[in-house]
Amino acid sequence: MTEQVTRATFDEVMVPNYAPAAIIPVRGEGSRMWDSNDKEYVDFAGGIAVTAVGHSHPKLVEVMRDQADKFWHVANVMTNEPALRLAKKLTEKTFADRVFFCNSGGEANEAAFKLVRRHAYLNYGPEKHEIIAFNKSFHGRTLFTVSVGGQPKYKEGFEPTPQGISHCDYNDIEQLKALISDRTCAVVMEPIQGEGGIIPADLEFAKQVRELCDQYNALLVFDEVQSGVGRTGTLFAYEQLGVTPDVLTSAKALGNGFPVGAMLATESAAQSLGFGTHGSTYGGNPMACVIAEAVIDIIDTPEVLDGVKARHKLFVDGLTAINEKYSVFKDIRGMGLLIGAEVVDTYKGNAKVFLNAALEEGLLMLVAGPDVVRMAPSLIIPEADIAEGFARLDKAVAKVVANA
Ligand SMILES: *Cc1c(COP(=O)(O)O)cnc(C)c1O
Repeated sequence: MTEQVTRATFDEVMVPNYAPAAIIPVRGEGSRMWDSNDKEYVDFAGGIAVTAVGHSHPKLVEVMRDQADKFWHVANVMTNEPALRLAKKLTEKTFADRVFFCNSGGEANEAAFKLVRRHAYLNYGPEKHEIIAFNKSFHGRTLFTVSVGGQPKYKEGFEPTPQGISHCDYNDIEQLKALISDRTCAVVMEPIQGEGGIIPADLEFAKQVRELCDQYNALLVFDEVQSGVGRTGTLFAYEQLGVTPDVLTSAKALGNGFPVGAMLATESAAQSLGFGTHGSTYGGNPMACVIAEAVIDIIDTPEVLDGVKARHKLFVDGLTAINEKYSVFKDIRGMGLLIGAEVVDTYKGNAKVFLNAALEEGLLMLVAGPDVVRMAPSLIIPEADIAEGFARLDKAVAKVVANA
């Protein structure tokens, strides 16, 4: 028998670590979703920068069904063809020589952070274990990744946390110079900070981070969990920074909603995770890998990637037009289809009011921290859906302003 469930069920049976909206989505198609009352929404959120080719994409449904009929799992004592094909594809299309698969962004980063520690341990000795990361950065919710992440609130009450990690301000090379030393094993950064407020790296800063890493024999880790897989208009954002990392992590859009993560590494970095040093039961499972391969095939084409750049302009124009009417944003920024609009001081700490108002008008959006409205739609969202979404946002913002 199927149990009857409602939003109230959440408050009864779920761990209270989330505060979900009042509505419950039940199906999606492209960039539209419907809730359990059959109300329709335009999707400017993409889950959370995840559904990069929209909901229930027919090609993804097809490859998933095909693989579901074959087999879902083998232990890592065997390999499987979908994993090998996906790894080949990722190494052919990037700087990387080798790939490790897992199930989420946090796990990809956990693998990366273990790798950089072990790489330094094997090549230089245990003294070289310090990791430098940036304030406001987000790298996941495991104990190691909240420790490397630059948002102290995520560590509070979970101490003792892993040690040997320090932080400095993003885009401030002098602070990094003051911290880095021969004890540094890695610098970890997002090419564009996502959860921290949609803050792109300055090109000159990124270049100098790479130079400092080389000078101190530290590995450079790019967390592209949010920025990767076409989100910024290139397959990975590092291509636009003109800086190549030693290790890169991917997840979110990689599975379009099916759980999959990947850590990509150069040959020499990868050699540090020798036989038996790390693993994951589900990592590289054939279901995830056929889907991720199809996602890459769909996204890594000139049409889709150029389309991201064209849509970037439509989103910036849409936000600018709303701002000319209502003056609610002090900055509109981002790369590709990862876009942030920072609210003016009247709404400081309260970007969420726009999210809630939009939801009522039938538009799904996100925030990035307390002050920034975030949009991370499907990379192939139809122009008509963009126009409809902004018409709904206009109504939502008008209501927020009227109630202020
Ligand atoms: C979402 C995110 C993560 C964490 O990914 P999970 O799949 O939630 O573990 C890590 N890094 C960045 C940059 C992210 O945006």
